[in-house]
Amino acid sequence: MKHTNALLSIEHLTKYFPIKGGVLHANEDITLTIREGETLGLVGESGSGKSTFGRTLLQLYPPTAGSVLYHTENGGTVDLCRQRHAELRRLRRELQMIFQDPYSSLDPRMSVGEIIGEGLYTHGILRRGTREWREEILSVMETCGLQSHMFGRYPHEFSGGQRQRIGIARALAVRPRFVVCDECVSALDVSIQAQILNLLTDLGEREHLTYLFISHDLSVVRYLSDRIGVMYLGRIVELGESEAIFARPCHPYTVALLSAVPSLTADEKKRERIVLGGSPPSPADPPTGCPFHTRCYMAREVCKRERPPLAEVEEGHWSACHFAQEVGK
Ligand code: SF4
Repeated sequence: MKHTNALLSIEHLTKYFPIKGGVLHANEDITLTIREGETLGLVGESGSGKSTFGRTLLQLYPPTAGSVLYHTENGGTVDLCRQRHAELRRLRRELQMIFQDPYSSLDPRMSVGEIIGEGLYTHGILRRGTREWREEILSVMETCGLQSHMFGRYPHEFSGGQRQRIGIARALAVRPRFVVCDECVSALDVSIQAQILNLLTDLGEREHLTYLFISHDLSVVRYLSDRIGVMYLGRIVELGESEAIFARPCHPYTVALLSAVPSLTADEKKRERIVLGGSPPSPADPPTGCPFHTRCYMAREVCKRERPPLAEVEEGHWSACHFAQEVGK
């Protein structure tokens, strides 16, 4: 299905963290649109700024610069970066997050039912303890594959997969429009990962959700993303339809990431493995020019001096490389 309407228009979003003796450039000047109903996958090595982006987007971290325009259901537009605390709280019902660690993200003192139903009363949707509140929680639990007898039990009594289902039910109980899934299957066994990914896909279609799906694992992102953004050192270096990214990557970093992913098509099987040298430079001291030049197998002199802008290579497919047209040739 083609998704065209913008749900979130992110413009020049930047997030720095002060550190001893300087600043950490976690997100640099990120501009992109997340379309209503799509799943946008965000990939990159650990430390590339993916999780910070998800949190800054939702205003869990205050941004250093830029704006996040949220297109509301009634046709209005609000800049999340410029909302008062009370207004942001109200909007949070629509903008939810599923966290990486199903072990630490659930309050161990609250029962499963209370965890899932907390948002319903804090957002003023249903009164706590009422029959309607309980019925709504049981209905969400059933949707997420949780049995009703779990209502009064506690998170520590369950496996990682079940806890992640509780985390998903908590996010979905308040009927959000947008959900950030931050490495939400990476702590789980592969067999359980598939179950959770299937659940997210089904729920996304049923509830017409928009997802930002953050993962270091391209094969996981491929499974459910309509489009993919690739992050390196706090910047988006490639963005496009998932099929285009896999068939015709236009950034050397994406090519290297893809070469480590199990091949699905005959063309992919022909790809040679590219092992990147060294680790990414420190976000506290990013290189001049192209941020990838210190590890890039295609780097030339100009790459050390001039930073390539994120430019459209083919319709809907963007790359931040001076030689995007030559990648993969
Ligand atoms: Fe590599 Fe240069 Fe392209 Fe950067 S601009 S990715 S260093 S070829």
